[in-house]
Formats: sequence, C-alpha cells, structure tokens
Amino acid sequence: MHTSVSIVRCADYGREAVEKAVAEAVDGAGGLELSGKSVLLKPNMLASANGGKPVTTEPEILRAAIRVARGRGAARVLVGDSPAFQSGDAVGAKSGLKPVAMEEGAEWVDFADSVEVAVPGGTLVKRFSVARAVAEADCVISLCRLKTHSFMYFTGAVKNLFGVVPGLQKSAFHMRFPGKAEFGAMLADLALAVKPCFAIMDAVVGMEGAGPFNGTPRSIGLVLASRDAFSLDWVASSLVGYDPLDIPYLRVASEGAAYGFDRADIVIEGVPFEAARIHGFEKVRIVRGEAAARKGPLGRLVRNLSVPRPYFSRDRCALCGACVKICPAVALGFADDTAGRFVAIDYEKCLRCYCCHEVCPEDAIDLKRRP
Ligand code: SF4
Ligand code: SF4
Repeated sequence: MHTSVSIVRCADYGREAVEKAVAEAVDGAGGLELSGKSVLLKPNMLASANGGKPVTTEPEILRAAIRVARGRGAARVLVGDSPAFQSGDAVGAKSGLKPVAMEEGAEWVDFADSVEVAVPGGTLVKRFSVARAVAEADCVISLCRLKTHSFMYFTGAVKNLFGVVPGLQKSAFHMRFPGKAEFGAMLADLALAVKPCFAIMDAVVGMEGAGPFNGTPRSIGLVLASRDAFSLDWVASSLVGYDPLDIPYLRVASEGAAYGFDRADIVIEGVPFEAARIHGFEKVRIVRGEAAARKGPLGRLVRNLSVPRPYFSRDRCALCGACVKICPAVALGFADDTAGRFVAIDYEKCLRCYCCHEVCPEDAIDLKRRP
C-alpha cells in the first residue's frame, strides 16, 4: 500500500495562493473526507516571536486549512495548541492565529484540560496525558511548519504533536528521556497516541540554523501534505538535506512495525522530489555517539567535550526568566555579582535538551561545544 506525500509550490503567503496550494496539497495526498466530523487543527504555537520570525505556523495556512476542512464536510473545526511555557491565548493572539480562527468561525480551544490515553503499541511510553480536545476530536490535523530543531535536528508534523501535552508537563518528558534516541522514541509513541488523520506543512518560509525559535528564515516556497505524519517528515527532512535516519523519531518509526511507516511505501505527488530539493539549507549538526556519552564518568567527559551546551550572553539577556522557568533539570537560576544579575547554569545538572534556547526571546543563548 502506498502513502502519498504531495508537494505543491506556493511562492508567498497571499491568501488566494495559499488557499489554492493547501487545497491542492490535500487532494494530492489522497483528499480528506470529513463529513459530520469534529476536526482539530493543531498549528505550531511554540512561543510568541518578534519581528515576523517564522516560529509559528503562518495564519494564512491556518485559514486555508479551516476552509478546506469545512469544504470537506467538517461539522466542527477546532484550533488549539499548548505552547512551551506561555498561554495558548497569548501566543495565539501575537502570532495572528487566534484572530484568523475567530474570523473563520472556528472554535479556539484551551489545552489545559487533559485526559489519559493508552498506547499499547508504544516502544517506550504506554500512556500519555494529552489535551482533552485532542482525545475527543474525530480527526486531528498536524498543521506544522518546517524548521530545524537544535535537539531533534528537525521539526515537522510529528514533533509538532508534542504540543498536545499540556503546559509544563512537557518538561517532565525531557527529564524522563534526556537522550535524543529515547526522546525520539517518545515522540513516535506520542504520534501513535494522537493518531493524526492528516498533516499539512507550511514550508513557504521555513527556518534554518539554530531553530526552532532562534534560527533564520529561509524561503522555500512549498506546501506539503500527507495522511501519514512520518512520511511527510521523511520527505521534508530529505528535501532540506538531512538523512532522515538521523532524525531520532524517524529512525524509531522506520524500525518499529507498530508505527505503520515504511519509507518504501512513499509516493511523491505534485512537484517531483529533485525539482523541490532545497540546496544549501543550514542544518543542525548531527551529534554522533550521544547515547554513549550519557553513561559513566568517561561518558560525562565525552559529553562535555562533544555535545554542544548552552552559553548565556549577559549582554543580550533581558532577564525575562523564560529559560529558568522551562528548564526541566532545574539547572538554571538567577545569580548576582559585581556586574549585576545574570543567568547561572549548573552544567552537571544540564541535560542538553536545549529547551532554554528554544524559548529565549532575545537569542541570548548560544549552543556550542566546550572550547
Ligand atoms: S540548562 Fe537548558 S539545555 Fe540544560 S537542562 Fe536546562 S533547559 Fe535543558
Ligand atoms: S537567557 Fe533568554 S530566556 Fe533566559 S532570562 Fe535571559 S533573555 Fe530570558
């Protein structure tokens, strides 16, 4: 059985062009039959960003997805996400996603209320606490944005689902699964729990470099869609130059039958792969041997030398406290010296999860190997 991944050109975020591209991408990926169903659209709402940085899914992509869902018979269209540490309302308002949802008559949902869902086939996690709205929807659509990710290397349709875990409960997963491979397995299990019926990717303008928050905008000019979130991310990560087997959750999905993913089943529709390929995309450097670097004193030494760690710029830091609040290992705190207040880090406690880097609004954290 094949799994279609459609690739459609879309030069900018003009309303008509986006609506046409999203509808075309959905049809190219096999279409959506939503008669009488409740559909939850889950955009990427990581955090509020200034200056038009491509952090969240673009509002016109959401508008087009709402219209497509309605056009395919959805009885209810809901929109929601749980950002990294801010409220969904705050990020929704600043990103422009909430006003668009309201204009289009969709229901804006809060992810604070959660329920437990079982994942019998999960590799690592057998139960997740997810937003009630997600568990109760007939169909969840991952409405992601193509970006680099300092910890998982790439974020697309699958990583976007992490937002269904309410609020700071997300931090607990970083403590429980500090390694990239195990965190990737957790994400693959989460995809099994959520079972998205479709995924649509905003790759009109993506993010390269130090994503998913402090990277650089990159014009790509594409919209992608698939019924299978793993297949979509496999194709999208390949298009920007990754070996998808380096993306931890894609490796897990490609090795476990429970995930229903087989790269040999992927069929590209629309723009041919070679014509869509993005050259010179600035990827996150792949760290090899990271699992071994977590074991024993020698492992810790190797980790200190080979795995990038966060460095805090006192000049750029605005002392907002977002990093201190989100750090799952409680490795950060404010301290004072003669030069004033600063963020102090305990590298022995630091997991190298990069959650701090992911939320810093001032780009004050650099990820570097120890000199
Ligand atoms: S300091 Fe940053 S990278 Fe280290 S554990 Fe805390 S959030 Fe993660
Ligand atoms: S490093 Fe960034 S997130 Fe942390 S306090 Fe400073 S400005 Fe805020």
